[in-house]
Amino acid sequence: MNAKASTRYGDFGLLPIAGKWREGASGRRLEVTNPFSGQKLLDIAMASKANLDEAYRAAAKAQPDWAAKGPGERAAVMHRAVAIFDARRDEIIDWLVRESGSTRIKAAIEWGSARAITLEAAGMPSRSHGRVLASDVPNKQSLVYRQPLGVVGVISPWNFPLHLSIRSVAPALALGNAVVVKPASDTPVTGGLLLARIFEEAGVPPGVLSVLVGAGSEIGDAFVEHPVPAFISFTGSTDVGRGIGRIASGGEHLKHVALELGGNSPFVVLADADVEATVNAAVVGKFLHQGQICMAINRIIVEAPLLEAFTKRFVERVKALPVGDPDKPETVVGPVINMKQLDALRAKVAKAKAEGATVLLGGEPEGNVMPPHVFGSVTAEMEIAREEIFGPLVGIQSARDAGHALELANASDYGLSSTVFTGDVARGIEFARRVRAGMTHVNDMPVNDDYNAPFGGEKNSGLGRFNGDWAIDEFTTDHWITIQTGPRPFPF
Ligand code: NAD
Repeated sequence: MNAKASTRYGDFGLLPIAGKWREGASGRRLEVTNPFSGQKLLDIAMASKANLDEAYRAAAKAQPDWAAKGPGERAAVMHRAVAIFDARRDEIIDWLVRESGSTRIKAAIEWGSARAITLEAAGMPSRSHGRVLASDVPNKQSLVYRQPLGVVGVISPWNFPLHLSIRSVAPALALGNAVVVKPASDTPVTGGLLLARIFEEAGVPPGVLSVLVGAGSEIGDAFVEHPVPAFISFTGSTDVGRGIGRIASGGEHLKHVALELGGNSPFVVLADADVEATVNAAVVGKFLHQGQICMAINRIIVEAPLLEAFTKRFVERVKALPVGDPDKPETVVGPVINMKQLDALRAKVAKAKAEGATVLLGGEPEGNVMPPHVFGSVTAEMEIAREEIFGPLVGIQSARDAGHALELANASDYGLSSTVFTGDVARGIEFARRVRAGMTHVNDMPVNDDYNAPFGGEKNSGLGRFNGDWAIDEFTTDHWITIQTGPRPFPF
């Protein structure tokens, strides 16, 4: 593969369904716009329930041949996809900026993580191992085969659309599954259509990967209920995730399900922490992608002796962040994804004020760009502390001591990521182990996602783990097969 792709992909007006790029048949159209400029990017004929059925049936038909290919062949497809990521780096980053309002900084990070996940997936076919078990039955060979689940349905959100789709799509394909993706309506290209082009160019056979851009109200339930998919991998809000879980494995259907849901990350600063290092992490951990990250800092909890120094330096740094056009390389805080999200953030600002939080930094939105807001005197009871913010707002809470800081950190129904800052690493580990969350980072920001480390949450933040060996477990299942090699002494 050349270092640069010779031509850019087309305009993505069509959907890859059951091996063919074509118009969706719902009769409804989706207009996709740039969240910063409002410019129309494309117009898509959305998929219908009949398209969904075709996609799933084609996937079921194509999957056994795909799974039967040797591990080296599926790995080679992933390696070619990585080469395409390299050749099309600028094109992919441009789409992330234009479609999802990503700053150039965030888009480059997302490109890098999606590429790394694909490279990691290339190693999965040869790392998926069965077992030979001992048996008490005479003349019995007892084997466990590790095999693909079959067809996987992937539903992804708009905030890191490329990364959050590919973290399911690449391992699922590499391990021999077929996949149908439903990206979020704000990001159909970066959450699905771009991936389909990349994997098609890399050599994934027709029908093995389909993308359905469609209204949740029209195809949402059917996507989960359809008899073909054995596994639904959902990333999105806790409310929608609960509904998906109920449908997928709530009784009538018993499918495998992974739910990666909302967060409310605490950022704890103990009194012996280094203020400058702590502030540097807090600024990025809160404002990367305008705070629209499930792992983003939602609550800053500072032990009382450091409260004043931390707050002063944090506000100084946040005030200086470049805000505005995400296409400018220096911009840190770009637009939020859409007007609905902006309105929700305005309501959160009003509520924080009404509940008695003090505005340390604020300002009025311009277009979809919400300037960073910092609130002081926040308590655990306020909405801004209890609920996921998903925007460039944050409140600072004061903790009497380390025990109180831990209590505040755990005072949430969510348990995705979390952070503790301290000058004493042993104390940090002790503290981290008492936080009820899937992920805790000592002396770093909570926004961490490594391709080989278990990503996932506890409590209302979801079920299941992504990345590395954990993805191999999620996207395969065990099949116990025994062989009676000689007579068995039956009891009657
Ligand atoms: P959302 O739940 O509104 O939508 C997520 C996806 O589900 C979209 O593709 C949407 O079209 C689809 N959807 C909505 N209703 C559906 C239905 N009834 N049936 C089937 N599909 C349906 O979430 P969002 O606004 O796109 O994303 C923001 C949320 O996602 C935040 O809560 C954030 O914390 C969470 N999130 C979690 C993770 C994680 O890994 N834990 C990562 C990113 C985002």
